[in-house]
Amino acid sequence: MTTAPLPAKASARPPYVGRFAPSPTGPLHAGSLVAALGSWLDARAHGGRWLVRIEDVDLPRCVPGAEEVIFSQLAACGLVPDEYEPLRQSARGTAYQAAFERLKRLGLTYDCGCTRRAIEDAMVSMGLLHERFEERVYPGTCRGGLQGKPARATRVLTVCGGIEAVISWKDRRLGRQRQNVAREVGDFVIRRADGLWSYQLAVVVDDAHQGVTDVVRGEDLADNTARQIHLQRLMGLPQPRYLHLPLVRGADGHKLSKQNGAQALETTRPINLLRVAGRILGLPALEAATVPEWLAAATLAWRERWVVA
Ligand code: GLU
Repeated sequence: MTTAPLPAKASARPPYVGRFAPSPTGPLHAGSLVAALGSWLDARAHGGRWLVRIEDVDLPRCVPGAEEVIFSQLAACGLVPDEYEPLRQSARGTAYQAAFERLKRLGLTYDCGCTRRAIEDAMVSMGLLHERFEERVYPGTCRGGLQGKPARATRVLTVCGGIEAVISWKDRRLGRQRQNVAREVGDFVIRRADGLWSYQLAVVVDDAHQGVTDVVRGEDLADNTARQIHLQRLMGLPQPRYLHLPLVRGADGHKLSKQNGAQALETTRPINLLRVAGRILGLPALEAATVPEWLAAATLAWRERWVVA
């Protein structure tokens, strides 16, 4: 058996491009392997390309050497990108700056002088105690000007011409989704107080630059999708399809992450790692003795389940 890409089913869509976008803050763990495998399978099952993008936009959080470890863990599991040199967000400042200037020229951004504390105080005084994912909904304090405060971050408007950004989209696994970004998130940061570009801006600019047609990633990121679609619409960028994958939970029921001490993947028996990840992705038990055989069988099973003609 081989793991050569399957021919694409006929469709009017642009050629499939998928990506796995790890932040090099440490080695892959069982949860990140599920995201890597799911995005790889979806790309292969569609006869598409699979890219690995290094999301090191938040350089201070990145760990030297983590990128090399991630690539060698992926390779041990047979997951090799279709591009020799990965795109690294740390080298993309000019593109983020251009996107930022464009939004600014369109009058869609404003400087914000609020500290976390100021946002909390403003919410309390407005009787708003709404909190989601430990982030505060920004109450729009600086929308009308800084009132003497020094500028810290820059935010993008989520109410344009009096109309709130209400984003609906269809997730391939989660089904219909809807978020009123203005009310549930508020105007969000695109350039942080420390001068770094926000994850939301970087992802949207890079997905468009790389021609990504399908974003396949962990369900913990599903909540970001409406913000990303909002930015795509403001900048006239194409909207990819989205598929959010099941999460691996630790013994405490929380999503497995580097922050809660997830173990780095030990790749001496990669087929076992793939079997576990495949089970989480809902694949049936597959007859395979080697990694390439397992990947080939998994690609067929994935195609049955997720590829629509
Ligand atoms: N870099 C993000 C992470 O490691 C993933 C971003 C994405 O897939 O959109 O969680």
